[in-house]
Amino acid sequence: MPRYTGLEEYDLIEKMGDGAFSNVYKAVERQTGRKVAVKVVRKYQLNHSQSGNKHLNPNFKKRPRVTERANILKEVQIMRGIDHPGIVRLLQFFESDEHYFLVLELMEGGELFHQIVKLTYFSEALARHVIVQVAEGIRYLHEERGVVHRDIKPENLLFERIPIIPSKEIVHRPYDEEKEDEGEFRPGVGGGGIGRVKIADFGLSKIVWDEQTMTPCGTVGYTAPEIVKDERYSKSVDMWALGCVLYTLLCGFPPFYDESINVLTEKVARGYYTFLSPWWDDISHSAKDLITHLLCVDPAQRYTIDEFLAHPWIKAGPEPIVPSQ
Ligand code: ADP
Ligand code: MG
Repeated sequence: MPRYTGLEEYDLIEKMGDGAFSNVYKAVERQTGRKVAVKVVRKYQLNHSQSGNKHLNPNFKKRPRVTERANILKEVQIMRGIDHPGIVRLLQFFESDEHYFLVLELMEGGELFHQIVKLTYFSEALARHVIVQVAEGIRYLHEERGVVHRDIKPENLLFERIPIIPSKEIVHRPYDEEKEDEGEFRPGVGGGGIGRVKIADFGLSKIVWDEQTMTPCGTVGYTAPEIVKDERYSKSVDMWALGCVLYTLLCGFPPFYDESINVLTEKVARGYYTFLSPWWDDISHSAKDLITHLLCVDPAQRYTIDEFLAHPWIKAGPEPIVPSQ
């Protein structure tokens, strides 16, 4: 484990995630013995980080991400104002000459969400159980905090602990049987129950609504119409992403994919996706209807978070999901 000057209060145990510009470690706070996650962000270095869904989609886009003081402080400021069971909590923030340190609530299950998606897909009941938690987090951000996350994807949705998932809730892909033995994840292995799924990574998030007045930030008489429109529709980017996550949960692969980045970009721009047979054959019309209202190109037509939560497919649950042991 590396040693970071300024982080002497914590013992690093293992690396939980890394990016070009941040490393996340499981750590123990020496004084209290409390287990936490510490996100270490280097100052004055690498200003590019790879973004996008790197596991599911090899064509993920490289997006510049400058680790300027202002950006980190924005991430911290947004996280500080947040208190919701569907969102990873920021416990402490401090910095040294070389690094910023974000001490976070530990999500023991890590990106397991993603591991499961990679191998299998979820039953509708389990997909609902997971997506509702994410949606509640988004509802809180959009409606109570005026925050748009802007980076909702499986890598940023973390399990509180390694879940036990009843085998009946996991469905292997048809024609993909050989993959069954590849997983590090097994139903019935782990720390008990399905537990919570929480939204992490506010590195790209943005405050768009004034919390007090619930009007777009900075919108006064002189603001251009495209800015006003932009702010009105900015929340809809999270709804699109939520649609992509739900689609992926239900079938095990993302709605938009192509070997060629140009073709992929074009598919997304046109909103071209299908409910591919045979994977989607047995999935309910109601689930497909919900996805259709999220993966819709016109942001004005796209469901808001409240419309999402009021949809019959969401309302059909929650069905009890009982761990197998
Ligand atoms: P980046 O901006 O580099 O994507 P993230 O905040 O998303 O930074 O963290 C990178 C990865 O570290 C996550 O995808 C996840 O695997 C892991 N991680 C982040 N926060 C936690 C946490 N609180 N508990 C456990 N793992 C975490
Ligand atoms: Mg991330």
